[in-house]
Amino acid sequence: MINRRHFNKILVGSVALSFAACSSITNVSLPKDRKRVIVVGGGFGGATAAKYLKKFSPETEVILIEQNKEYYTCPFGNTVIAGINDIDYIKHDYKILESKYKVKVIHEKVKKLDGATNSVILENGDKIPYHKAIVSPGIDFKYEKGYVKGSEQFAPHAYKAGAQTTLLREQLEGMQDGGTYVMVAPANPFRCPPGPYERVSLVAHYLKTHKPNSKIIILDQKNSFSKQGLFQEGWENLYRDMIEWRSVEFGGKVLSVDPKRKEVTTEDEVVKADVLNYIPAQKAGQLAFDSGLTKGDWCPINTKTFESKLVKNIHVIGDATIARSMPKSGFSANSQGKVAALQITRLLKNKPVVNPPKLANTCYSLIAPNYGITVAAVYEAHEDGIKAIPEAGGLSPMGADPSFRALEAEYAVGWYQNQTADMFR
Ligand SMILES: Cc1cc2nc3c(=O)[nH]c(=O)nc-3n(C[C@H](O)[C@H](O)[C@H](O)COP(=O)(O)OP(=O)(O)OC[C@H]3O[C@@H](n4cnc5c(N)ncnc54)[C@H](O)[C@@H]3O)c2cc1C
Repeated sequence: MINRRHFNKILVGSVALSFAACSSITNVSLPKDRKRVIVVGGGFGGATAAKYLKKFSPETEVILIEQNKEYYTCPFGNTVIAGINDIDYIKHDYKILESKYKVKVIHEKVKKLDGATNSVILENGDKIPYHKAIVSPGIDFKYEKGYVKGSEQFAPHAYKAGAQTTLLREQLEGMQDGGTYVMVAPANPFRCPPGPYERVSLVAHYLKTHKPNSKIIILDQKNSFSKQGLFQEGWENLYRDMIEWRSVEFGGKVLSVDPKRKEVTTEDEVVKADVLNYIPAQKAGQLAFDSGLTKGDWCPINTKTFESKLVKNIHVIGDATIARSMPKSGFSANSQGKVAALQITRLLKNKPVVNPPKLANTCYSLIAPNYGITVAAVYEAHEDGIKAIPEAGGLSPMGADPSFRALEAEYAVGWYQNQTADMFR
């Protein structure tokens, strides 16, 4: 006899099955009546590209494949580490891309893209063909100098947001007053050039408020950094001697690291940390390597369309690319996502591509919740690379008064809300 509970179970099972059957787009041939574009990676580049493909060409079938159901942004992740915002502040999902823009979203890990058959191969073995693909896989880390797989549980990099962000936050909370927070900042090129220095600033804000006898040491693997004058002016104004920056030439060079003991050996000494935030050197996300899209550590692209120089019909955007003067930032990835979506729409309709496409980037950094600084640029893509248009952009001024900095901090929050709305809503 079938009781009510059993009946409900069967019903739920059959609903799930029929949904799987209806929404199954794997192992099928290409649609005959329209074009299919597959976007892999639902971060700043991929989520933007998927949404804008549907805006530019609603009739195109757009499939977004992203391994996680939730996306945690690195932007504003530093405010979570410093206890200014909760982790939910940086959490987003793909529901509106599905319901409002009719993007088909699949949460699976992609094994590779096969340029020979124009198809995406999932880790579960399914194969989905495409007319065009966009890949925005972000970054991966180079294990180096004793920082090996697993080291992130002792010395979090927190350079991919989510669990690592929370772990670094907890370690900071657990640190005693008078402790030392040591950051190893990576060599160029890496994701978000001002990111490490914004983080140090907000960690200093937390320590000044809660553990004022503590100190911060930055062991940098380079001799200068983005917005250096503005950051150092802010540190002098707000945190005085709390932050010590050591360039690679003057004491920063790391020879080896022991993440469990939280010890970093430099050319001069062994630096002991209470909290060790080790940010390793970086390279394109593993998927780019597995799909044959890399030359060296990053992906070469045709700068006008973002099509890979190595595999036809695959367009690569975001941090994984060699995009010349554009920094590896969320705003850059967003801007590149729109250009790639526009050019692909035109290519699929046999129209000439926009030439030269224009791109933009602005990076806000918070030195304290009410103290912001900015860098901005507008770019044009030419045959020999993406170039900043002279005079279109610049840095916020040195020596500005507190009300100016407070306004920039307000704009930073506005930027975050607009940018994430542009991706997910
Ligand atoms: C501390 C910090 C602060 C930052 N602050 C700013 C800021 O203020 N402003 C700014 O503009 N930028 C900022 N950034 C930089 C920004 O986070 C990156 O530039 C941006 O995320 C790059 O976007 P992306 O699409 O290339 O990669 P990501 O955003 O990393 O997206 C990649 C996506 O691909 C998915 N993926 C990868 N491989 C696979 C696979 N095999 N199968 C399925 N899915 C896969 C991943 O799950 C991920 O969701 C900051 C970064 C850091 C670390």
